Amino acid sequence: MASNPFRDRAFVVRTYDFAEADRVIVLLTRTHGLVRGVAKGVRKAKSRFGSRLQPFVEIDAQIYPPKRASGLSTITSADTVAYFGHTITDDFDRYTAACAVMETAEKLAYEEADPELFDLVAEALGRIRAGEETPTVVLDAFILRATEHAGWGLSLFDCANCGAPGPHRAFNAAVGGAVCAECRPRGSADVDPEALHAMWLIRGGHPLPADDAALTAVVHRLTVAHLQYNVESGLKSLRIMEQA
Ligand SMILES: [Zn+2]
Repeated sequence: MASNPFRDRAFVVRTYDFAEADRVIVLLTRTHGLVRGVAKGVRKAKSRFGSRLQPFVEIDAQIYPPKRASGLSTITSADTVAYFGHTITDDFDRYTAACAVMETAEKLAYEEADPELFDLVAEALGRIRAGEETPTVVLDAFILRATEHAGWGLSLFDCANCGAPGPHRAFNAAVGGAVCAECRPRGSADVDPEALHAMWLIRGGHPLPADDAALTAVVHRLTVAHLQYNVESGLKSLRIMEQA
């Protein structure tokens, strides 16, 4: 944990009202990981500082770390770097996808520098704001890239268990992606190899060849299963233990 004051680029992940006019802000910073800080006076109607501490605004924040390890930081000022707001909040599908990007980022973040995760969030919000792609596809691309960056990469062609070359017709989140007919454990999902190929494309930063609602629904279901399995299986706490 940093002990000297610092400035860092950040997104607001969540906020809680605190005391009379203050707010506790959870920030995803670019080079200090997750930071929990108090922003004083920001609930007063005329607080311009408070108006910048909103979701989907990239800020440059001044942060004073806590004196004790268990305390909260203090956030004393914030400048707007990029504003993603209205075009996201005015559209239900964009808003839902953008909220899920922030929630996923919070689950994958630690109290340490992770510029790549931060940049993936900024890129995803920018693509959702641009509105040229289905918001769910942008979200799924973010999840696949961010989880791969976190060390939970899916095998989307070769069998995740034995490495037999694909394409395969089954998916198992617990095994780590595509599974061959021989390895296929109980509870695997039947999938069209086309869906796994689509996931491979969006993870690599490519657009989907066609806007196929049935295909994007399958991609979303498999991507969410993958994320939930990894977040809930406790790999995160294991990784923290390894670092201790
Ligand atoms: Zn296999």
